[in-house]
Amino acid sequence: MSILVFAEQRGGALRQAASETVTAGRVLADTMGVELTAVLVGPPSITGESEKLGRHGADKVLLGSDEVYGEYLPGVYADAVVAAVTTIDPKVILFPASALGKDLAPRVAARLKAGLASDVTEIRFEDGRIVAVRPAYGGKVYITVAFKGEPAVLSVRPRAYMAEEAPRDAEVQELATPNSSQALSKVHMAEGAAKERPDVAEAEIIVAGGRGLQEAEKWSLLEDLADALGPGTALGASRAVVDAGWRPHDEQVGQTGKVVAPPLYFALGISGAIQHLAGMRTAKCIVAVNKDPEAPIFKVADYGIVGDVFEVVPRMTEEIRKLRSED
Ligand code: FAD
Repeated sequence: MSILVFAEQRGGALRQAASETVTAGRVLADTMGVELTAVLVGPPSITGESEKLGRHGADKVLLGSDEVYGEYLPGVYADAVVAAVTTIDPKVILFPASALGKDLAPRVAARLKAGLASDVTEIRFEDGRIVAVRPAYGGKVYITVAFKGEPAVLSVRPRAYMAEEAPRDAEVQELATPNSSQALSKVHMAEGAAKERPDVAEAEIIVAGGRGLQEAEKWSLLEDLADALGPGTALGASRAVVDAGWRPHDEQVGQTGKVVAPPLYFALGISGAIQHLAGMRTAKCIVAVNKDPEAPIFKVADYGIVGDVFEVVPRMTEEIRKLRSED
């Protein structure tokens, strides 16, 4: 009996989501009293990363290091996970609910004719069954689902489980190299924006702005706040702002953007439409600044400031700078 976790990498380095998914797997494996295996596929430089999976609690790593895994090819990655499933016959398969994981998990579930729960925030083992909590209706409600059969395939919302150390010497076993000639597609070039800040899905803190900022140029206000908060801070945006072309789409938070759950989320000049809340209401602490006391964002905020962002944000930045300089 075991649990299989898909450990996501990019460019030969494990992603934060991988450590979190392994932690989720470790918690469940301890409850079920079973082994935890991670499947890690990537370019040859990925080999050194398997040790990190042991640090977060994997008992075993099935490693596929090959150029064909350099960029995400859905069919090739699905083949690798299915090969890992054939090797260990797991009861549960976990993916991160990242963009890649949300694409890969349903493919694997379909191949295995298994049930799938996406974007889960909690997984439990109750009365011999896997039970998970997941959002429905755009995050308006959270539902509890139970799996009837095996294996249970789940994708875990980033930050729902914080990465923790549970060190062990993971045994590393090679996965057979795939037949790349059977790949249905090939990546010629992958171009990512050169970013100084972390991705919203992985950041410790998000400073998000909405239409209340009035124009793209005013983002320097948010950048100053993000700089004051430190290097783990990402910039986020509402869809209104992205649609207006003020910010790039990869910063959009919400139902049609990224779903985030950081320890700290600043919603600045954001009304709190249901589609935005769907992407951030599980943040551990929400600080909202809005000049409208009736703005729906205040219903989910832990700290709400009724005021003008152009007055409040520079003062917050100043106070945070002072506090950090005292550290
Ligand atoms: P507004 O609703 O215009 O709110 C601006 C806020 O700023 C107001 O509350 C106002 O009081 C405040 N304000 C104005 N000036 C100031 C000031 N000087 N100081 C302080 N506060 C000020 N939205 C998303 O964000 N993410 C999504 O993924 C998403 N997906 C969608 C999917 C669908 C199918 C649909 C229909 C909509 C989706 N939306 C999404 C859009 C969503 O419904 C809202 O239109 C959008 O979130 C509004 O963005 P906003 O809060 O920035 O702008």
